[in-house]
Amino acid sequence: MLSQNIHDKIAKSSWIRAMFEEGARLRQIHGADKVYDFSLGNPDYEPPAEVQTALRKYANGDEPGKHRYMSNAGYPDVREKIAQQISAESGLELNQNHIIMASGAAGGLNVVLKSILNPGDEVIVLAPFFVEYLFYIENHGGKPVVVPTNPNNFEPSLEALEKNITPRCKAVILNSPNNPTGVIYREETLRQLADLLACKEQKYQSEILVISDEPYSKIVYDQAEVPQILKIFKHSVIVNSYSKSLAIPGERIGYIAVNPAIADVELFVNGMIFAHRTLGFVNAPALFQKIVGDSLDAAVDTEEYKRRRDFLYEQLTALGYFCVKPEGAFYLFPRSFIPDDIEFTKRALKYNLLLVPGTGFGCPGHFRIAYCVDFQTIQNSIPAFKALAEEFQG
Ligand code: PLP
Repeated sequence: MLSQNIHDKIAKSSWIRAMFEEGARLRQIHGADKVYDFSLGNPDYEPPAEVQTALRKYANGDEPGKHRYMSNAGYPDVREKIAQQISAESGLELNQNHIIMASGAAGGLNVVLKSILNPGDEVIVLAPFFVEYLFYIENHGGKPVVVPTNPNNFEPSLEALEKNITPRCKAVILNSPNNPTGVIYREETLRQLADLLACKEQKYQSEILVISDEPYSKIVYDQAEVPQILKIFKHSVIVNSYSKSLAIPGERIGYIAVNPAIADVELFVNGMIFAHRTLGFVNAPALFQKIVGDSLDAAVDTEEYKRRRDFLYEQLTALGYFCVKPEGAFYLFPRSFIPDDIEFTKRALKYNLLLVPGTGFGCPGHFRIAYCVDFQTIQNSIPAFKALAEEFQG
């Protein structure tokens, strides 16, 4: 029954899910407290108080019509609030017509890609990357072009990008703070990238859209700043979601914000609203649009994530693991002790450690730890990381 395409894709679709399922198996054998499952980026937090309050308010309120269809772009009042927030942060002038409410970042990315891609158009993704990008691009007839980042700090490599931007390049996806490295791309690097893209656009008489996927923009440490993409790139959109910042990934709520400087911006937004409708989302979940509209200043407690990051980073580097210190998100991406990261993560299973191979993010020789698990589990896992390291340190 399945198409050949889907048949082929599910075979290689997700290391993360494979590890998660292996975790369920190990828990049955050894008991939950003996298994250290760092496989899935699923926040273990409850949503902040503002979300709980708003949920009760809208659930209990008896104003009519709150479960009906609406404009495909979403509730105007919520879009206006988000536009004002982005305007204040970026110094640009956005209004509700620049915002489309989306079903999480995943929904938003599919809408943007569907709206811009002609068959065979290329989309650059920087490795390591969130693996679903490849499938989203292919969903809409595009061709992913994987470009490595600088291996010492995971910053975009201008040299590598320069070689890979062709006349068919339609978009570049950026993700900072990054999944899986936690790295925040520096403003200076992004400005150089903006110059490079402008040069290429001029040379090829093309337009290249920067799609900034930012679900971790509110999970940053030590007062790190996430550069304002809309200020740096004229041809840009932000795709954001509240999945991580408000710990509500199951509710599927986020937005697309469009740079007002894009030529024919109204037509562009209309194209995306059409794509949103015809992809079958119709509109983003109604109740949660209202709830996030009331919770724009709220965010999960990043101090607890920071405590976990600091502990894990210090312990692992003391054990001999090499790792770039993340400035945001809730992942560590250390080097595996051997180039074969798949073998490495298989060996980790012996100690009930569930890690995701870097190969799953287009970056072999590394592995990802998702530390959105309780502190106790993290503490208890250190002897397992030690035993694993000792296998290779011989
Ligand atoms: N982009 C990145 C980089 C992610 O890590 C994730 C989820 O883990 C998503 C997008 C999808 O987020 P959402 O749940 O908002 O669709």
